[in-house]
This record gives sequence, C-alpha cells and structure tokens, in this order.
Amino acid sequence: MLDLRELTAFGPVLADGGWGTELQKRGLAGGECPDLWNLTEPARVVDVARSYAEAGSRVILTNTFRANRVSLAGYGLADQAAAINRAGARLSREGAGGRALVFASMGPTGKMLAADEIGADEILAAFHEQALALAEGGADALLIETMSDPAEAALALEATLATGLPVIVSFAFDTGRNKDRTMTGATPEQAARHMEERGAHAVGANCGVGIAEYVPVCRRLRAATGLPLWIKPNAGLPEVVDGRAAYRTSPERFAASIPTLVEAGANFIGGCCGTDPEFIRAAARALVPPCA
Ligand SMILES: [Zn+2]
Repeated sequence: MLDLRELTAFGPVLADGGWGTELQKRGLAGGECPDLWNLTEPARVVDVARSYAEAGSRVILTNTFRANRVSLAGYGLADQAAAINRAGARLSREGAGGRALVFASMGPTGKMLAADEIGADEILAAFHEQALALAEGGADALLIETMSDPAEAALALEATLATGLPVIVSFAFDTGRNKDRTMTGATPEQAARHMEERGAHAVGANCGVGIAEYVPVCRRLRAATGLPLWIKPNAGLPEVVDGRAAYRTSPERFAASIPTLVEAGANFIGGCCGTDPEFIRAAARALVPPCA
C-alpha cells in the first residue's frame, strides 16, 4: 500500500486544482452530470487530468466527486455508478501518464443522516460500491472530500478502508463567525480526532472560503493530529457573474499564502473551486523557490 507519510516525508506534495470549472471550460453545461463525462466525453476528462500533471501536480484527482449512487440517482444514473467510477480512475491514470499519482475523489451523498433523509446502511453501501470501482480502475488512494457531517464521513471511511487503499478524509470548513466549522458545526479538532480514531491515513480541509482562512484551520488540524494533512482551499468566495460562479483570488495571491500554509503543517497542497492549472504552476513556484 502507498504510504502517505513516506510520500510527504521530504516536503509538501503538490496536488491539483478544481475540476468543475475546468470541465465547464471544455463545454460542460449547467445541470449536466459532470461525472457522466467519464463515459460520454472521456477525451475531455483526460485533458483536464493531463493539464494538471503538466502544471506540476504530483497527485491528481478523478472526475468522480458525485459518483456515489445516491448522488447519481438525482441524475437518473444510479445504475451507472460502477462504470463511471472505474472509468474515472482509468482516465486520470491516462492523463497522469506516470507523472502523478491518482487519488480518487468521493464527495458527500447530499442527504442528511441527522434529518433521516438517508440511512447508515445506504451510505455504507453507496461508498463501498464507489470505492471498489475506483480501486478496480487503478486509484492509488481514496479521498473522501468536502464533508460536513463527521457521522457521514465515518461511514464513508469505514466503507472505503475495506479496499485496502490509503484513505484521506477532508472537510469543508466554511461556517460560523470565524469560518472554522463545517456546516454541521464540527471543529477542525473534532473532525481530525474522529477520523484518526477510525483509521484514516490522512485528514484535511478543502473548499471553504479561501486560502488565508485555511491557514489557522490547518494549524488547528496539525495540533490535533500527527497524520499527514491535505489542504485544498478555494480561490476565495464565489460571486455570481452571468449565472456562473466567479472566483476573485488570483494565482499569485493564492501562491503567496503557500509558505504560511506549509509552516502551519500542510503536507499535501492544492486548490479547490475556482483554481486551475495556472494556480498549480504558481503554487509549484512557491513550493520550490528559485536558487539564488
Ligand atoms: Zn471546492
């Protein structure tokens, strides 16, 4: 099994940027299921993966954020779950071309356990099916991301550990006065400890309101756990321009916060919504300062 501690032992590892906006640039329409493109537009999906590997990402994700059968059911695609995930992992491997590892993206179901919109068994089964298909497709590790509810994250973790692959669990901290809680109220300390106790190989924070806000969140995760930390902030808060989300942070401003994020203990660094290969190029320069 890939060892995430060994992988990050010699310094922070650069991950990729956002996928949704990159697929939109390549023609994905609003309301279309991005994950279905793994079956219908594979060349465009490979192109996104390749663009990140070429920009310097040493870890790239997969186009499978919504590809659990509960989320896919919203598009009438539940029975395609296994095929979409297998293809997603395979396409990212193809785009990586041996230059980057492939960590497979698994987002939340979108249903609230606490409100009885979904049962624990259904969550376990959905993530288990997704994780097995991603492993079959050749994923090097699994990333449970943009989580809000530690209870759903714990079920997803249990279901994915069964693959034998390393599992990272990452939460979105975007709520509360200091933007340091998940939507369900979990703090970085609670999220990190809860996941470490249940066997996660790394924990982290993604999405959120911006890179500067994730520096203190990263510091608190670091104080709460010795596990490798995965940090992928958004390019600031989105504003709606012409019906689409626009992000105001520039690649240079994003990259300027990277040394502080490294000091705060981040081991994997990338970008979430609104970041693209230009952000990753800028981040790569920030991680490896030019020789004097
Ligand atoms: Zn995001």
